[in-house]
Amino acid sequence: MDSGTADTTTAVAPHAPAFTTHSPATGEQIAAYPVDGPEAIARALTRARGAQTGWAALPPSRRRDHLLRWKKALADDLDTVAGTIAEETGKPPGDAALEVVLTLEHLAWAARNAERVLRRRKAATGLFTVHQRASLVHRPLGVVGVIGPWNYPLYTPMGSIGYALAAGNGVVFKPSELTPGTAVLLTRIFDAAVPGHAGLLTTVTGAASTGDALARSGVDKLAFTGSPGTARKVMAVCAESLTPFLAECGGKDAVIVTADADLSAAADAIVWGALSNAGQTCAGVERVYAVREIHAELCERVVARAGALRTGAGPDAAYGPMTMAGQVAVVERHVTGAVSAGARALLGGPDAVRPPYVAPVVLADVPEDAPAMTEETFGPVVAVNAVADVDEAVRRANASRYALGAAVFCGGGRAGAAIAARLRAGAVSVNSVLGFAAVPALPFGGSQDSGFGRIHGEEGLRAFTAVQSVTVQRFTPPIALTSFEVPAAARERAVRMARALHRRR
Ligand code: NAD
Repeated sequence: MDSGTADTTTAVAPHAPAFTTHSPATGEQIAAYPVDGPEAIARALTRARGAQTGWAALPPSRRRDHLLRWKKALADDLDTVAGTIAEETGKPPGDAALEVVLTLEHLAWAARNAERVLRRRKAATGLFTVHQRASLVHRPLGVVGVIGPWNYPLYTPMGSIGYALAAGNGVVFKPSELTPGTAVLLTRIFDAAVPGHAGLLTTVTGAASTGDALARSGVDKLAFTGSPGTARKVMAVCAESLTPFLAECGGKDAVIVTADADLSAAADAIVWGALSNAGQTCAGVERVYAVREIHAELCERVVARAGALRTGAGPDAAYGPMTMAGQVAVVERHVTGAVSAGARALLGGPDAVRPPYVAPVVLADVPEDAPAMTEETFGPVVAVNAVADVDEAVRRANASRYALGAAVFCGGGRAGAAIAARLRAGAVSVNSVLGFAAVPALPFGGSQDSGFGRIHGEEGLRAFTAVQSVTVQRFTPPIALTSFEVPAAARERAVRMARALHRRR
């Protein structure tokens, strides 16, 4: 057994409690890691604060070069990183490699665009402030705490880590207790690629108690990715100290398919969106609303494609085991509940659940109030329901308490964009699924139970900054309103001028 305790994690006393990670496919133990508590986190925070001062003082071009070196080192080590992700999550190596590739794209974008997005900008002045030069600048927050999930253990937290570092912050990262090895490796590669900034990025390991301690540690913002239930708990802790909080939570993404859509392309995308990574994707496809004319044909195509997939271990499997054993029961409850409420199981059904694997399940005519339609399933299950028209599809898609991603398949891009504009989702792909997640310039995030705030893109950089507004007085104004020396008559004249001005439209 390998000890996961590395010089990149916080120093932990030898007698400190530890936990172990296991292969989701075989149950075999992978490694042991310390359970970091408040003291270890305080040490990590102190180091990060020390390192962040120098990091923030660097010219932006130097920070960019450091981050691009880290990106190159991750690309050089792609096989090792992907191997660790595959080992910890059980996902096929090809999927793990794709996760690293997407992460590299985002890191490159954040590194190359931070200076442009965050540089000082002029602001217009007004009638009584013409004597001022006004500007605003985005300053780093300090040290950001990041709490991550296990389903995309690199790509997802790096949406916060990479952007926070690019914006000049330090980071203390608590990965999921199922995937600490990926985080430790990420930090180790950072330290090797970015010498002279030790402690700027630190991984702390552990489960809920470690995350709770990080939320209480005094970080300058906490970026959380995980389930809405946990988000509520962490946000309540952050509220005690008014620590700013960003929540990237679950989804129940809908796909709308219109009568003139390319059904072959739609079926292909729906199957991938619903089943890749065993359905354990926050913005994965869980609900499909197809107009009645094409519903039967779409179902046929989805079933044919999904039925041809191989589930299991190894590189030729379409997807692997459920990463978190506890999620299997949720999937089973949703499938059983849907079928007993009258849904048709077109492929699979309750017998598809064979832990740690779940074979593809395609359901139709699922009652809208069944848990399979209202709760996040987070498994390889898709419900394909018929609707009378696009209006009904939009209404049903928007009826969820989640609002993360969505997709529209229809004959034309412009018509698709018009439907997208009616959806409450934070991101919509037209004629593809999850297209938005691969475009680093596009912000990502949802609302309601899907959380709030945005990662990625310009908003994702600004999310880890505080705006500072600055005025520089260029000359003494004829009417200095911020002085006790102003004669009453001058003040009254100013009010008359303003009133005359603002009475016009
Ligand atoms: P989870 O909520 O169980 O755990 C998330 C993280 O919170 C883990 O690191 C966990 O250790 C930590 N944690 C648990 N209890 C805590 C507490 N009381 N205080 C502080 N930290 C605590 O979620 P998960 O099972 O790891 O991830 C799956 C969920 O994440 C799904 O709902 C999925 O949709 C969501 N997700 C969202 C996005 C997104 O960007 N919107 C991306 C990936 C996953």
